[in-house]
Amino acid sequence: MLIEHIRQRLHELDATAQRRRRRTVLTPCQPAQDWQGQGELLGFCSNDYLGLASHPDLIRALAEGAQRWGVGSGASHLVSGHSAAHASVEALLARWFEPHIPDAQALLFSSGYSANLALMSALANEHTTLLLDKLNHASLIDGAWLAQAKSRARWQRYPHGRLDALERLLAACESPIKLIVTDAVFSMDGDIADLPALLRLAERHDAYLVVDDAHGLGVLGPQGHGSLAHFGLRSTRLIYMGTLGKAVGVGGAFVAAPPLVVEWLLQTARPYIYTTAMPPALAHALEVALRLTEGEEGQRRRLHVQALLTQWRRGLDAIEWGTPAPRPVPSSTPIQPLIVGDNAQALAWQAALQAQGCYVGAIRPPTVPPGTARLRVTFSAAHGPGDVQRLLDALQQASHTLSAESASA
Ligand SMILES: *Cc1c(COP(=O)(O)O)cnc(C)c1O
Repeated sequence: MLIEHIRQRLHELDATAQRRRRRTVLTPCQPAQDWQGQGELLGFCSNDYLGLASHPDLIRALAEGAQRWGVGSGASHLVSGHSAAHASVEALLARWFEPHIPDAQALLFSSGYSANLALMSALANEHTTLLLDKLNHASLIDGAWLAQAKSRARWQRYPHGRLDALERLLAACESPIKLIVTDAVFSMDGDIADLPALLRLAERHDAYLVVDDAHGLGVLGPQGHGSLAHFGLRSTRLIYMGTLGKAVGVGGAFVAAPPLVVEWLLQTARPYIYTTAMPPALAHALEVALRLTEGEEGQRRRLHVQALLTQWRRGLDAIEWGTPAPRPVPSSTPIQPLIVGDNAQALAWQAALQAQGCYVGAIRPPTVPPGTARLRVTFSAAHGPGDVQRLLDALQQASHTLSAESASA
């Protein structure tokens, strides 16, 4: 029965072009990668925005960390897994966030997914309403489900970016504890949330603002300190989650928040308590990655990505699209999606680009809303201007191919 049920559901996924397949890479995270069975392709799909994932300094730092600390942590943070390497990264991150969250403290997690589950489930109780942007990341939504199941917290979603709708929900909300929860940079659209306006709403309605900066940390703000720095925000009402496996190039995540919030997470957040601490060697490498990110080299890399984005936008304007034409989403971040709409069409674009030696992700529901399947193009500081041009040429060529096919169909 179980197996029959699964077979049926997988069949449905095939029928709607929603079946996902993994592909195996044979090379480190870098633009030109060797794919098992498919040869070398130039990729525009990673979240390694600063190109740090295979930086020689980080490779050295990880090896050094393993020499100093061994590999595994052996236990959870509250038992014996919390090393001086972890503590040192937390102290550094606390300093990053002190200008934005008074007396900020930081708490390391092994992944952003678990950090969001921890935040949502530990902060919410039966007196809480969580208010989420419709396009928030899956981990925040799952966190809201967990909060509801565990403690009968309520949660509601407002249409993407619609502060008027959010304000109506806030005005009607009778819960004494209100949390507005948003991605800072939306992962599948690349747009930046209006955090100053969200914070004003939080202040006006005695709410808190939880910011998931997975795609902003390292990319936005002076020294890459992220979206709070980008907007110059400072408030005791801010609770921040950043991930360390995207622009920072390593892995893991952290929450930066007022001291009592961090203490509460440490005491009660089950996704924090009941899991093995990240390997200390990784924490050691993280410290080097964070210093690279905020230093001169990070700055150089941020400027380089901005130059690539300018080149990309100009090049896109010059493409002569046939039909169907994908629709670029306005975005000032390294996430530059092209909306295709139909799932099968998104896969056709992906295949046509692959025939030109370029690889981009075809993102389909449920990751994005139905009817908005897209090519999620991302740029990295590891790309050069020649790479951007290759993708532009491939798009032009793919457009010819696909419009010829649709004309003959
Ligand atoms: C990637 C991502 C996460 C999850 O972080 P991981 O460290 O990969 O688990 C959370 N939120 C957003 C917006 C993300 O893009």
